[in-house]
Amino acid sequence: MNRRHFLSLTASSAAVYPLIGRASETSGPLTKHRITSLEIKQVPLPWPRLVGKNAKLDVHGRGPTVWAVVLKTDQGAVGWGEIPDAQKTPEELRSLAVGKTVAELMNPASGILSSELWPIDIPLHDLAGVILDQPVWQMLGAEKPHLFPIYSGMIYFDELEPMEKPAGIDQVLANCAQDRDLGYRQLKVKIGRGNRWMTPEAGLKRDIEVTQAIAKAFPDCELLVDANDGYSVATTIAFLKGIEGIPLFWLEEPFVETDAAWREVHAWTSTNGLEKMLLADGEQHNDIPILEKLEADGILNVRLLDIISHGFTRWRELMPKLVKTRTLSSPHAWGSGLKTVYAAQLLAGLGNGASVEGVTCIHEHVDFGENTIRDGKMHVSSKPGFGLTLRES
Ligand SMILES: [Mg+2]
Repeated sequence: MNRRHFLSLTASSAAVYPLIGRASETSGPLTKHRITSLEIKQVPLPWPRLVGKNAKLDVHGRGPTVWAVVLKTDQGAVGWGEIPDAQKTPEELRSLAVGKTVAELMNPASGILSSELWPIDIPLHDLAGVILDQPVWQMLGAEKPHLFPIYSGMIYFDELEPMEKPAGIDQVLANCAQDRDLGYRQLKVKIGRGNRWMTPEAGLKRDIEVTQAIAKAFPDCELLVDANDGYSVATTIAFLKGIEGIPLFWLEEPFVETDAAWREVHAWTSTNGLEKMLLADGEQHNDIPILEKLEADGILNVRLLDIISHGFTRWRELMPKLVKTRTLSSPHAWGSGLKTVYAAQLLAGLGNGASVEGVTCIHEHVDFGENTIRDGKMHVSSKPGFGLTLRES
């Protein structure tokens, strides 16, 4: 079994890139490639360890088997990528693409040409990059990739497992150490134990103890926290008071957003020395007009829509709007290490990132090539497309 992981060395901090470059407008070569086949594959992407509960969901297990599409053209080009779960039948997917030229489906300067193509947005971006002999980030307009920190998104309520004999906080610290060894210098800590798994008081107390223990054990790592909508305004402020003195890189989804709740938290953080902590939302249960208003007013700082379910092309369209309101981005990538690479390539091409969500997986079925963690940052491949290769199995 091949157990290569992302690798890296030291930490770094986020940066804002307010300018979006000129995306590739050379679609000429795409007119010469006609898609001859669309194959669907299942790709196992096991995580290196058991991932436990979060505020809302029970044990997450040991990693997904994702669906992927492989596209081939009559000129011998091959592109592939993860697709959303079972949205369409194989026949429906084939009818979208087979027999068409790549130029009929995709403009490298903007993305897919019809919203119907959303399920194969990622495979088409990979294929266009392969045909144009460009990495996706370059096709998106960057001369050099914009690099951002990467955080481990895999620190769950692991001290609660196994249920019959909970491992305790040392297990969470061991998991953080594993991620630090993989090169991460940002760790995202799940909080909100009192939402389902403990009493509200005991859960909040444990959230605080775990965060304090991680901060003490890993002083060279930045911490993020994510409550998966399991907090209220009151528990959010109680938690922040409880970890006083520990700076957080960001606070994610404390509750299902309302205008009043975020303004209340922002008013508190901005008068209690936490002005630098980024406030992040938009992963799920989203009310987009509320998010946009809060971003425009400088209350929220980071948008988190999913890289696949929102869509790669729709993210390309969204980014200039976020830049206008000085809102950073970090596309949600939880689940598969492939999504981490797609998110990193998007940010490498367009800039305006806060951090990349890192999902570590075993590389038995996919060669991740030059998409690696180094110096606490996610580096992207210089090879055509996403620089990912499906291993023959
Ligand atoms: Mg989240």
